[in-house]
Amino acid sequence: MQTIKSHEIRLASRPTGIPTRANFAIVQNTLDSPKDQEVVVRNLFMSVDPYMRGRMNEGRSYIPPFELDKPLSGSAVGEVVDSRAKDFKVGDVVTSSLGWREYFVAPATELHAVRRDVQPLSVYLGVLGMTGMTAWAGLNLVDVKAGDVVFISGAAGAVGNVAGQLAKLRGCRVIGSAGSEDKLRFLRNECGFDVALNYRIAPIAGQLQIAVPEGIDVYFDNVGGETLEAALGALRLHGRIIACGGISGYNNDKPEPGPSNLFNITTKRLTMKGLIVGDSLDRRAEFEREVGGHWREGRVKSKETVVEGIDQAVGAFLGLFQGKNIGKMVVRLG
Ligand code: NDP
Repeated sequence: MQTIKSHEIRLASRPTGIPTRANFAIVQNTLDSPKDQEVVVRNLFMSVDPYMRGRMNEGRSYIPPFELDKPLSGSAVGEVVDSRAKDFKVGDVVTSSLGWREYFVAPATELHAVRRDVQPLSVYLGVLGMTGMTAWAGLNLVDVKAGDVVFISGAAGAVGNVAGQLAKLRGCRVIGSAGSEDKLRFLRNECGFDVALNYRIAPIAGQLQIAVPEGIDVYFDNVGGETLEAALGALRLHGRIIACGGISGYNNDKPEPGPSNLFNITTKRLTMKGLIVGDSLDRRAEFEREVGGHWREGRVKSKETVVEGIDQAVGAFLGLFQGKNIGKMVVRLG
């Protein structure tokens, strides 16, 4: 195999508050030759995701922290350029958790083969990947069904827009919140949301009260904070909350106090369930059949914000916290 040079992004220091470019380093290295049962992959697309912020802190949460001066990791889709494993040949397309680098050598067991005719291949990081699965698993977690009024925060992002489209397919009325007028248009015109609210222009609690005075049955929480408090106020008797994410607090030095109206859980007999997508991996085939079917038939659309080149990956990650993406934020490497 000819010598391959590859760039990778490493964590140079642990961020305090909002991460900056100084917390990261881009490093060039030379790939080792593959050993028996190993494969060389050129990444074509890599994912940046809000959960990665938590892994930049010291101390374990539900997954171990990133190590300093080591490459970051995360979902990626790439093509095999050399193989010493019988299950993979040059040209095969694979997903892995070895993003944040242009090339890598890994044991075949760390790769998942996917179809090359699915285009663009970045769909494997969005609708057909981890974020699409999160949307699907979240709706299943609290049994979202026809007639439910569903409110989704972070609605124009990777998880939120798919959750909304799937909830519409289930026969729900869907309300979304997001941070710009472009995003509201995307939700209404491309994803079929019934109502879209801009949380940046006025408190979301008041906007919800006007938009859905009868209340909501389900809240799909991607942001936490003030929006969770608003949803607790808007939920009806026996309402359900999918606790998926809390991006409004990810960069806080100290945790914010919880919602002031938590006692609504008691008075309205609410159910709040935590979601970790990794718990649903054994249902991957079912997810791929159901959501893949919707996507192939055009019932669920894929929306991506694509940034070009490994040197833009840190900017793409930071952009998640500034609302720079509509749909899934991905970085094209190949
Ligand atoms: P997104 O594609 O939604 O990107 C992040 C978006 O969050 C931004 O575009 C921005 O949109 C919004 N945002 C940023 N800062 C704030 C803030 N302070 N308050 C409100 N909104 C903010 O990310 P994902 O769809 O990948 O993830 C959505 C959530 O789901 C995250 O919290 C993530 O951690 C969580 N998640 C959880 C998983 C699980 O297994 N539990 C798996 C995957 C994701 P805007 O312009 O609207 O502000």
